[in-house]
Amino acid sequence: MRFCSITSGSSGNCHLIETGQHRLLIDIGLSAKQIEKLLNDREIDPASITAVFVTHEHTDHTKGVGVWMRRYRVPVMATAGTWKGMERTIGQVPGELRVEIRAGKGYRMSDLRIEAVPTCHDANDPCGYVVESGGSKVAVITDTGMLTPLMQRHLCESDLAVLECNHDIDMLMQGPYPMALKKRIRSNMGHLSNEDCGYSITEARQRGSKGIFLLGHLSQENNTPQLAMDTVKQIVDGSGQSIASIHLTKREQATEMFTI
Ligand SMILES: [Zn+2]
Ligand SMILES: [Zn+2]
Repeated sequence: MRFCSITSGSSGNCHLIETGQHRLLIDIGLSAKQIEKLLNDREIDPASITAVFVTHEHTDHTKGVGVWMRRYRVPVMATAGTWKGMERTIGQVPGELRVEIRAGKGYRMSDLRIEAVPTCHDANDPCGYVVESGGSKVAVITDTGMLTPLMQRHLCESDLAVLECNHDIDMLMQGPYPMALKKRIRSNMGHLSNEDCGYSITEARQRGSKGIFLLGHLSQENNTPQLAMDTVKQIVDGSGQSIASIHLTKREQATEMFTI
């Protein structure tokens, strides 16, 4: 498999997973035009995308979904709740391309298996995704206020995982957001902090993970790439585990293409 984070952060998310027979996008959270440009920068033809999976209806995950469906006529998979939540913002889409999936279920598509893993987030039936192909496994787990044992197991077993590293707790609490929003972000239905991410990678490493971790969904207001990386590495290093293969995702910029 190959993996590239096309863009990640509180302002827009999209990840590419490639197998022998498929090129999937997880979320289209910038305009279709912006995603086309970012794919072209990586010499990936946007018309070669074979399917799109959506995690939840928030616009930083769905902004370009409607245009993409009308332009490229590829199937888009999302839970019933996510479809309902994004109905108004994506406009009219071809009914035959609108595929409903169930969080907690696995689906086989020729050379890959994809599982929708329920997340804990203030959206209608949100999920992350785990893709397995050719003996390798990739997980994308962001927009979750806590990690369930199932998510932690997937993170531990994955060869590559995008894990949310949303905010620095001090920056969030001392920042300009209203208290209600701060509480929402910190809650079990909000977002994972840098510390949460660090402890989760530590746990995965302690359970034998040698996988690559990409720190994802960094907040523009309440985090910096340097602070996210420093905090995670300090926690993982402090526990005596390996800090090798921990990378940052980028906002409106694709990462390197990882082969796993
Ligand atoms: Zn988000
Ligand atoms: Zn969200």
